[in-house]
Amino acid sequence: MQVALKIDVDTHEGLKTGVPAMAAMLSREGVTASFYVAMGNDNSGKAIRRIITNRGFLTKMFRTRAVSMYGWRTILSGTLLKARPVALAFPGLLRDLNDRGFEVGVHGYDHVRWQDRIDELGEAGIAQELEDAFEVYRAVFAQEPHGYAAPGWRANAVSMRLVDRAGLLYHSDTRGKTPFIPWIDGAALSTPEIPTTLPTLDEVLGRERLPNAAAVAHFYLNRMDAGRLNVHTVHAETEGIGQLQSFTALIHAMKEAGAEFLRLDAVAARLDRKSIPVCPVVRATLPGRSGWIAAQGDPAAVSA
Ligand SMILES: [Zn+2]
Repeated sequence: MQVALKIDVDTHEGLKTGVPAMAAMLSREGVTASFYVAMGNDNSGKAIRRIITNRGFLTKMFRTRAVSMYGWRTILSGTLLKARPVALAFPGLLRDLNDRGFEVGVHGYDHVRWQDRIDELGEAGIAQELEDAFEVYRAVFAQEPHGYAAPGWRANAVSMRLVDRAGLLYHSDTRGKTPFIPWIDGAALSTPEIPTTLPTLDEVLGRERLPNAAAVAHFYLNRMDAGRLNVHTVHAETEGIGQLQSFTALIHAMKEAGAEFLRLDAVAARLDRKSIPVCPVVRATLPGRSGWIAAQGDPAAVSA
């Protein structure tokens, strides 16, 4: 069983508190992972204000303990309080992750702007987000990133073409089953897409009764496919702060099941581009998540 852990870091607090805790636990367990960090400002207060008006928000807020997880500083960031930088606030921490053998990739510039407004930004707006994000990455690491993970699994034809032109090893923008080559507007892109294959903990906790860490580990292990690559996205703000115990229990369970842990750049390096399917990217909704996400479509829908 192969497992790639994709750790999304959306906020200042997530990077400051969640990432060091997760990295320490993973190092102790001898497990590698890939971190994707928002390179620009933390405007997460805007996103939280938006979901507050959604139906079912309060149930989710209580079950996932959003306030204890994010803290009021994050909930108000970019609204009542000034937005704080994410990556640029902790460049030493990011370089340290890299030195310790973790992969660090790009998770957009302004996470909230990308997630909420990708369809309004247009080609120039999306190009600007990518340019700003890659510029911060270069400033921190003095090298080019290998991977991009779209904030909120939101991608459209314009963003996919622009990311494709960045010359990365791979991107991880969608939810799906297997790595694939995206088919966009009648043409195949050149960069492979490695989709997230499992539901996220915040999606699961809003719907399932999982009373303890062992129940969470059991839930995930039951959904993992021994025959192929499992890509699990976790969040610095969730598994790194309030749910570190559940995440640690899951790591133990996967190790006991004989999992081989891979960074996503290592997955990409092993891919045989000629043998992976060419698939369209479609919009879908997921149980426990509000709004649409980009998903791997049916390869049969691609006409040569
Ligand atoms: Zn994110």
